[in-house]
Amino acid sequence: MKVLKIDHLGIAVKSIDEGKKFWTDVLELEFEGSETVESQKVTTAFFPVGESEVELLESTAPDGPIAKYLEKKGEGIQHIAFRVENIEEALSELKEKGVKLIDEKPRIGAGGAKIAFLHPKATHGVLVELCER
Ligand code: ZN
Repeated sequence: MKVLKIDHLGIAVKSIDEGKKFWTDVLELEFEGSETVESQKVTTAFFPVGESEVELLESTAPDGPIAKYLEKKGEGIQHIAFRVENIEEALSELKEKGVKLIDEKPRIGAGGAKIAFLHPKATHGVLVELCER
């Protein structure tokens, strides 16, 4: 398995309109645009930073994973995404190593990327996303 870089940091916010002000107005990052991923009940907004990006996540439904996260933990870093060379290969390697996965197979996330989540129990509490673009 080849991990290429930290692709993005996923940050849960109540509102992208409110949440993006810090990143655009204070840190003066470029707002790349937003996209709703219906299957995950989330709207995402990306802010490139060098080789990585900040991803803000706003829930589109009260029963979505981001709504549940906000309820439990409030706003903050929700996941860290690593870009891998080949996500299918990475997942089967992790499975072989006995790593608990949320997604056994990649699904399609924002920007058409192939993504899969590892279980936080396998990573000492960090929700890790793998992505391939
Ligand atoms: Zn993500």
